[in-house]
Amino acid sequence: MSVPTAKEVSFRESVNLSCDLAMATLDIPEGMAKYIRNVNNVYQVRFPVKIKGKVETFIGWRAVHSDHKLPVKGGIRFASNVSQDEVEALATLMSYKCALVDVPFGGSKGGLLIDPRNYERDEMERITRRFAFELIQKDYIGSATNVPAPDMGTGQREMAWIVSTYAAHRSNDINHMACVTGKPVSMGGIRGRVEATGRGVVCGLREFFRHPEDVKLANMEGNSIKGKKVIIQGLGNVGYHTASILQREDDAKIIAILEWDGALIDHKGLDVEDIYKYKCDNKGSVKGYSKAKYIKDSNSVLEMECDILIPAAMEAVINQSNAAKIQAKLIGEAANGPVTFAAEAILQEKGVVIIPDSYLNAGGVTVSYFEWIKNLSHIRFGRMNKRWEEGQNQLLIQAIEKTGSKVPQDLVEKLSQGADEVALVRSGLDDTMRKAFQDIHECYWSNEKINNYRIAAMAIAIKKIHTSYATMGIYP
Ligand code: GLU
Repeated sequence: MSVPTAKEVSFRESVNLSCDLAMATLDIPEGMAKYIRNVNNVYQVRFPVKIKGKVETFIGWRAVHSDHKLPVKGGIRFASNVSQDEVEALATLMSYKCALVDVPFGGSKGGLLIDPRNYERDEMERITRRFAFELIQKDYIGSATNVPAPDMGTGQREMAWIVSTYAAHRSNDINHMACVTGKPVSMGGIRGRVEATGRGVVCGLREFFRHPEDVKLANMEGNSIKGKKVIIQGLGNVGYHTASILQREDDAKIIAILEWDGALIDHKGLDVEDIYKYKCDNKGSVKGYSKAKYIKDSNSVLEMECDILIPAAMEAVINQSNAAKIQAKLIGEAANGPVTFAAEAILQEKGVVIIPDSYLNAGGVTVSYFEWIKNLSHIRFGRMNKRWEEGQNQLLIQAIEKTGSKVPQDLVEKLSQGADEVALVRSGLDDTMRKAFQDIHECYWSNEKINNYRIAAMAIAIKKIHTSYATMGIYP
């Protein structure tokens, strides 16, 4: 199928145009296709909060794209440029993401128009609690209906305020902890959730490198990430964990890190931990870091030669204006919507391979699913079986040693550890990411109507969503 040459369109249109391309490869009745494509409902709310003695009005949204499975799932974004259109596009992506990785949720997303940097901690708490209350009142938060999570501008702190607000208003809901994910562990969160999106990105890249045809498609060689030159755009939660794991566990060479106030470059490889610490101690700025070359115009660094470019911050950073100049061989979309529809056509023409957001950043919602299950089952993963497994493994070591063989000490230590929560979370995440890439790989290489991974990922997801709707029928 030929890629249409396109003019730059909005994020929402970008998502829908890709969806149309995916729909065209499937045999779904027109009416159903239209229904699946569109957002089911969106709630807009304005609410007042008294800030420093004056009443301020805030505006927020929670959109539900698809409720073919319940609850619906997706983060809440706090940003000074968020809009209903963006929230709807992100909710749409959530539906595809969940379906693709077999996380049994529909797709949703929330947004609050605010610049959190302009408010004190206490003010943020009152604003967040009031927004949560508005959503709870309309059943846009609840363990069985709609389960938010962190996104840009929100994190564990906001999720703690949301669950506490929910518990106050729904005190007889025994599953109140499951009304939101990404909570602190002390409030029902799960170990491994904070790093989950970044770790998922790395699991996805590892799986890509296990497939020689795909590596060749991206004009690369080798079967691992080791030594690959990587550029990371955005050192927030997702970018930091992606970069840190790539460096620590995979020996990737992080040659550039791009931030809002400049980029740091070192062709021999940057020290991710050191830069992140510097940024945290320096009010979020990388400017002034002395152990790497600093370039003020960070966007220009996107065009630097590298193997893998990982946009991990915001939408549309790779667009019509810079797509032709991108020199990366592979783009891994850790953020949602970083490559516009028009840019994708240009990149495809150049032979640049894109691993799409709907797959690559699905690690966050995958581990959110584990957290939701943990909350519904009211028990930490590993609590029942960890010591039992350790005992069994001890017996195994004893049995082997009774035969006269000696088990090496490092193996004894590894075998002596039963799986705890974080080990199980990482195992579940890795399995999920491997399986989903294998599905994309299979769909891409076996279907000549599909010419990139994004369309393959969407086609797989849409097919599953359609099956759900078709099986349940239309009510009444
Ligand atoms: N905000 C994240 C995303 O875009 C996580 C969503 C979730 O965990 O529900 O995928």
